[in-house]
Amino acid sequence: MSETRFKTLRDVPLEEYLAPGNPLCAGCGATPVLRMFLKALEGRAVFVNAAGCFTLLHVYPYTPFKSSWMYTAFASAPAGAQGIRDALDILIEKGKIQPEEDIKVVCFTGDGAAYDIGLQSTSGAIERGLDFYYLVYDNEAYSNTGFQKSGATPYAASTATTLPTKLQREGHTGSKKDLFEIWRSHKPPYVATIAPSHIVDMLRKIESASKYRGPKLFISFTPCPTGWYHDTSESIRISKLAVECGVWPLKEAIYGEVKHTYTPRVLKPVEEYLKTQGRYKHLFHPQRQEHVIKAIQENIYQYWRRVAETEKLDIIIPSV
Ligand code: SF4
Repeated sequence: MSETRFKTLRDVPLEEYLAPGNPLCAGCGATPVLRMFLKALEGRAVFVNAAGCFTLLHVYPYTPFKSSWMYTAFASAPAGAQGIRDALDILIEKGKIQPEEDIKVVCFTGDGAAYDIGLQSTSGAIERGLDFYYLVYDNEAYSNTGFQKSGATPYAASTATTLPTKLQREGHTGSKKDLFEIWRSHKPPYVATIAPSHIVDMLRKIESASKYRGPKLFISFTPCPTGWYHDTSESIRISKLAVECGVWPLKEAIYGEVKHTYTPRVLKPVEEYLKTQGRYKHLFHPQRQEHVIKAIQENIYQYWRRVAETEKLDIIIPSV
């Protein structure tokens, strides 16, 4: 990453653009990410929100925002972003606002909109080269409708529609879609993963992305106490564990070229991460499902072996 104004936590801007107190769940991992996003953009942003948990954030006449916020249906946040971007460009062209008064347009959606229902309109917007940010709070299920499986749900997670049964003891039998690679295949200028536990990494990425005109994606790891069944105080610890166990790689791709921005020197066993959440409880009780835990672990090790080889990284990867 090139020169940055974010070197340590002391560089986090003090100005707040999101007021405390809102109707979302306590401990939600997406709230600190949204707060930091606003800080990095100095509040100069219009958020276009697809239906999801965060639809409750701003309900007329109440708002925790200093900036603007617009709702759309599940599938059409990128179309809403296109309309706002076009309107801003016309105002600049007509001299009604100066280029330096321009504001960023940010789609802000859950994984349901980003991975599934809104993927088609997102693909179109990337192809058109729309100048926008897309911030996904990925809690790996449709949480606002009762925590049903989404395209982001990982293997073996229990959701309302992938409950472990006698015939299907591991819970979800499929695997998580790779949204990073789906976006990267469109060759946009910027794609990144972020986590609420790694604030400096996140701010640097938002800063880096702002140099590029065009579509820019941020997929945020989002601990969800309500659907993952963990204590509200545990969200940041779980986020750190996800990174240290290699479950959630922190990376970016600039015009398709991938680089990992944080590499755990020694990967922690994934079991440490799985045991923090009730959605994986069935892997340990009433009986330990050793083959499922091993399969999850091997999948992570395979990923990091590939990364270590491609990026010439020094990572200690134990054998399963
Ligand atoms: S259900 Fe989960 S993602 Fe949604 S607001 Fe609550 S904690 Fe956040």
